[in-house]
Amino acid sequence: MTVTNAPTPRPGILDIAPYVGGEAAGTVRLASNEGALGPSPRAVEAYRRMAGEIHRYPDGGSRALRDAIAARFDLDAARLVCGSGSDELIGLLVRAYAGPGDEVLYSEHGFLMYPIAAKSVGATPVTAPERGLKTDVDAMLARVTPRTRIVFIANPNNPTGSYLSADELGRLHAGLPSGTLLVVDAAYAEYVSRNDYASGRELVDRFDNVVMTRTFSKIFALGSLRLGWAYAPAAVADVLNRVRGPFNVSGAAQAAGVAALEDAEFLERSRVHNETWRSWFADAVTALGLTAHPSIGNFLLVDFKGQSAGKDDAEAARLFLKERGILVRQMQAYGLPSCLRVSIGTEAEMRKVAAALKDFLGK
Ligand SMILES: *Cc1c(COP(=O)(O)O)cnc(C)c1O
Repeated sequence: MTVTNAPTPRPGILDIAPYVGGEAAGTVRLASNEGALGPSPRAVEAYRRMAGEIHRYPDGGSRALRDAIAARFDLDAARLVCGSGSDELIGLLVRAYAGPGDEVLYSEHGFLMYPIAAKSVGATPVTAPERGLKTDVDAMLARVTPRTRIVFIANPNNPTGSYLSADELGRLHAGLPSGTLLVVDAAYAEYVSRNDYASGRELVDRFDNVVMTRTFSKIFALGSLRLGWAYAPAAVADVLNRVRGPFNVSGAAQAAGVAALEDAEFLERSRVHNETWRSWFADAVTALGLTAHPSIGNFLLVDFKGQSAGKDDAEAARLFLKERGILVRQMQAYGLPSCLRVSIGTEAEMRKVAAALKDFLGK
């Protein structure tokens, strides 16, 4: 059949390699950086309470949730915008601030949603090389052109786990033209306990061209509900509120989010659990002769480079783990084919994956 006048999408759309999420059909699911301990029981309870209300439209302004976020993090609720996951907010920012002919800059091993969002509006994704799997501020600044509309930096970055210090982030911002938007994607901020770390909020408070995005999908473990938020200058928050759907966050997600924020004890337990088992797992894979790249998130990038006798093959390791029902993330799409990204799970899960890697390596 010859189709001559079939509808065609705008330029750039068919260049998108669709985002492939972590596999989910396994017993040990460590491929999507979901919070190891699951959600707070209070969040689950709040979600259940909404069951009788699902015929009602949600509050389109997510007022109670924004108030709860503002109170918890000491922010101005008027400059918070909630979204259906931070992915939605990333997409909306790109849609509102970039288009054909514009460039969207991110670092070499940065989060894959940035180029996907850029291409979806016909903008050109541009990458800057990293140094030792870390964003190189000078390389980023060297790639800024008059067409650069948005610079994305995940801090810490997924999948590398590395981060820019407050000083480095400030230097990146200082080198950008005032008309270029810096988006600091702080999806893992709640896991971080480093004095020199900055989530970007201080920059949002001081400048008109910085936005911080956050999510309830990682430490709060509400990925299925799709809930994220942005803290932005008033003018950018206004723009996001114009382009977002009027009811972009479900009522159940809003209620669960409020309850999750109230459970500070659960949050702290999740953070401590992550530090304990991330450090344990890093030691375990190092003892096996693998390289665990330093990470401040809830995942570790494990490098098989340098292994002998075919054991340098991350993909073979991934398939070996999968046979045992253990799912981890392959990294080809991030340009890191010798690595696997392993989310930090429960104690039992971390012991299982470490034992399976030991067997894979024949040690
Ligand atoms: C997981 C992740 C997100 C997306 O989270 P959602 O809120 O679930 O859309 C955003 N940025 C980075 C760097 C992530 O790893």
